[in-house]
Amino acid sequence: MVKVVKFGGSSLASAEQFKKVGNIIHADDSRRYVVPSAPGKRFSDDTKVTDMLYKCYAEAEAGKNFDKQLKAIKERYNEIIKGLGLKLSLDEQFETIKKKFSALAGKDYAASRGEYLNGIIMANYLGYEFVDAATVICFDKDGEFDAEKTNQVMAERLAATESAVIPGFYGAMPNGAVKTFSRGGSDVTGSIVARALKADVYENWTDVSGFLAADPRIVENPQPITVITYKELRELSYMGASVLHESAIFPVRKEGIPINIRNTNAPEDKGTMIVETTCSIPDCTITGIAGKKGFVSISIDKDMMNSEIGFGRKVLQVFEDNGISFEHMPSGIDTMTVFVHQDEFVEKEQKVLAELHRVVKPDVLELESDLALIAVVGRGMKNRSGIVGKIFTALADAKVNVKMIDQGSSELNIIIGVRNKYFNDAVKAIYAAFVPGDC
Ligand code: ADP
Ligand code: ASP
Ligand code: MG
Repeated sequence: MVKVVKFGGSSLASAEQFKKVGNIIHADDSRRYVVPSAPGKRFSDDTKVTDMLYKCYAEAEAGKNFDKQLKAIKERYNEIIKGLGLKLSLDEQFETIKKKFSALAGKDYAASRGEYLNGIIMANYLGYEFVDAATVICFDKDGEFDAEKTNQVMAERLAATESAVIPGFYGAMPNGAVKTFSRGGSDVTGSIVARALKADVYENWTDVSGFLAADPRIVENPQPITVITYKELRELSYMGASVLHESAIFPVRKEGIPINIRNTNAPEDKGTMIVETTCSIPDCTITGIAGKKGFVSISIDKDMMNSEIGFGRKVLQVFEDNGISFEHMPSGIDTMTVFVHQDEFVEKEQKVLAELHRVVKPDVLELESDLALIAVVGRGMKNRSGIVGKIFTALADAKVNVKMIDQGSSELNIIIGVRNKYFNDAVKAIYAAFVPGDC
């Protein structure tokens, strides 16, 4: 049995947390491949080491002296080394980092050092081999992740080791330049390692006892989800349930490896199993709720739109030509609405509107900003009636005005649009209507 275990930043923020991690790993012989993040926050207004590195590098780029910032980062690591009683010095590594920062080695290189250094400490602490992710996670020359090459290189390299620590978040391009995934990307590394090893399970250890039915920062003490499918999880993580990086599902999915989300601070909790498919009946009609703020809707009205072949394509082409991705697109007979991210849209607003006028000659073009989208997700919703009605009632009772509601074709999700300011109230109201009273 082989388990790949990834530990997030808060699980590795201090020597105390490292010790909990050590106990978890030693409690099970199959936990042989470890993917650490950089040290995260020790308390709520602490700074993650990754953020300290970005800031430090920005000073270097601005030609300023960055000694003080780098020293503060070194202190974070030294505190951990000392707390663990290790005989390890990172002096050499910090010398190299200083030189590379001065030579402007890049923002990605800078950020990646958080995981790199934590990986060295973790390997030393566990007595596992250290495998630099730059040698096994491959990006192509354009900076795109090369999944197949990585899988081959990683599988070959790890076959030669019994137990290893592979730092999360980064890899390298063919010219050796370090490249990172987007923020939270250590989750992706864990998944890639699990795929290469054909692991039995990918354990993702964090600071909550699994995937919760709603964001715990909005709903008080939300119910944990016992089993969730990859598809449901993808909908939720894409829509902002930030517990797992939205791309972390793809590598393990290829091999049908389950992900188990666990809590480093409560290792006895079973957490959430994320699986390809399951006959387990969900506890509630819905599995979870997630959402994001900051959308604009562009509504296009035109009589007889439905009979104008190519109308939709022409509209979407305008967005594509302006480099704007669309998030959601509900439509009616003579109307079509496109939801886009407000921050991507604002600066191109007038250009997009002018092009839409020119290309499809709408009767009315209407914009609405500061909107939030909420996804209500669940495999248990299929073939169940009355769900939309229940959502409407819950939102009306909470005095939340619904701007849009749309059911996805898979019947796996319902998307609801509300004003940003009603976002939290809406999530709370939907949660209260479906979980746990409904179970
Ligand atoms: P890590 O540092 O371990 O990678 P993250 O901070 O990336 O952890 O993710 C865990 C956090 O995700 C939790 O502390 C919680 O605040 C947040 N979160 C948001 N939505 C959910 C959800 N639906 N279930 C669980 N946690 C959630
Ligand atoms: N340390 C990186 C970040 O803060 C990656 C990760 O934690 O997964 O985004
Ligand atoms: Mg994370």
